[in-house]
Amino acid sequence: MKRPVTILGAGLSGALMAIYLARQGRQVQVFERRPDLRKVDMDAGRSINLALADRGIHALREAGVFADVEPLLIPMRGRTLHAPDGTLTFVPYGQRPHEVIHSVSRPGLNRVLLDHARRHYGIEPRFLQAARTLDFERDELVMLDEVSGDTYTQPLAPLIAADGAGSVVRRAMTGQLGVRVTEDMLEHGYKELTLPTGRDGSHRIERNALHIWPRGGFMLIALPNIDGSFTVTLFLALKGGAESFAALDSRETVDAFFASQFPDVVPLMPGLAREFLERPVGRMGTVHADAWSAGEAAVLLGDAAHAIVPFHGQGMNACFEDCFELDRLLRSASDWRSAFEQFFQLRKPDTEAIAAMALENFLEMRDTVRDPKFMLRKELSFELERRHPERFIPRYSMVMFHHEIPYRVAFERGRTQTDVLARLTTAADAVADIPTAQMDTLVTGLLEPLPDSSSRGQWIE
Ligand SMILES: Cc1cc2nc3c(=O)[nH]c(=O)nc-3n(C[C@H](O)[C@H](O)[C@H](O)COP(=O)(O)OP(=O)(O)OC[C@H]3O[C@@H](n4cnc5c(N)ncnc54)[C@H](O)[C@@H]3O)c2cc1C
Repeated sequence: MKRPVTILGAGLSGALMAIYLARQGRQVQVFERRPDLRKVDMDAGRSINLALADRGIHALREAGVFADVEPLLIPMRGRTLHAPDGTLTFVPYGQRPHEVIHSVSRPGLNRVLLDHARRHYGIEPRFLQAARTLDFERDELVMLDEVSGDTYTQPLAPLIAADGAGSVVRRAMTGQLGVRVTEDMLEHGYKELTLPTGRDGSHRIERNALHIWPRGGFMLIALPNIDGSFTVTLFLALKGGAESFAALDSRETVDAFFASQFPDVVPLMPGLAREFLERPVGRMGTVHADAWSAGEAAVLLGDAAHAIVPFHGQGMNACFEDCFELDRLLRSASDWRSAFEQFFQLRKPDTEAIAAMALENFLEMRDTVRDPKFMLRKELSFELERRHPERFIPRYSMVMFHHEIPYRVAFERGRTQTDVLARLTTAADAVADIPTAQMDTLVTGLLEPLPDSSSRGQWIE
């Protein structure tokens, strides 16, 4: 168990896993295909940001790195919904002061993790080193040095593959070991744009919110950046009709689309059409694999094992939770093989659950939020949580604010809770219309108390 560990990929999963392993006193070497993002601005002008929530924060805290990350965070207290006529509706995410999620710059976070690994543990990844393939029979990783153009081999075991959704390690497992993998790609793509900072450096729309322009089949979202700008993402069908990326191929079509669908952002984004035509369209999908490890030789981690669609803001959070759990298992297991197998047994049901919830949330974000019953059900779920905090926690809150509740439990309880909310709201237009006795009977009859149900903090009045 004391052999040096190779980590492939110095992205979010690879960098955090390196820190966890180094804390155990293990020798770690990290290979990364790209240049060092602390020295090269790879996304020139792009400031891609992500939502960090309780699960990710818990894993960062346990690794001793959260204090370094905290200055990068912007709390988002809820969703600001933008209707086509410009009406704004704020829907809070939770009902206690700490129930917020945080916008964080992806490269900023990655830099902090790499710096922490270097400063505290002397880990310096080898950049511009790409894995080309693996040979499980010979126990070899075949690497390409992108600078010299030379190929070389690296002993495999144990390898932690944090090489992202398109993992070469996963592909080698499929080709050589018969691991079954499905990659379900969405018919929607995404494009990231910039809503620049105001003249005085301030944010031009509410800073502490995640903004959504839900339009049924498609939507626009915006997350704040520390420099006063927002990263705006359009999620839209790849092709098929006027409302698709394929149709938005000229300044005229882009301008007309935004003017008709999102009129309130147009004056805030002066370079919109130019930027739109320059930026690539990204693809999204869910990866399901029926095994994540190859004996004691290699294990998949993060997106390499279970990439999901981004609509619950949980991909990175789930990756960070992986790092925490794999570290825990490696501390207690007697050998690598059993740690890797236990990791799969433990995490597979949870990652399948968050994959399903992320797909469901796509519908909620782009469409359901416009349904008047959505607001009623949201209000009612807060009321039920206040009345029965040990039994009813809104599903969104279980996923985003309760790392102690596994994803699979949130998913299962969420189904029962959806049923409770539907039954109570069929004949009601307001929470006040629903008899409290009926609420109590349904909740106590259908939902067992949660094992760790201590309510944390005060309600927001
Ligand atoms: C549009 C969008 C929005 C998102 N929003 C959120 C959000 O709000 N909240 C959230 O929690 N998650 C979000 N996610 C998900 C999140 O980005 C991913 O879950 C996370 O980045 C996965 O981290 P990773 O380290 O496993 O993989 P990656 O980030 O893909 O990193 C993999 C690393 O491996 C390297 N690599 C790849 N192949 C090789 C090779 N052959 N050799 C050497 N190195 C290699 C890559 O260069 C990269 O550095 C979003 C994703 C998308 C697409």
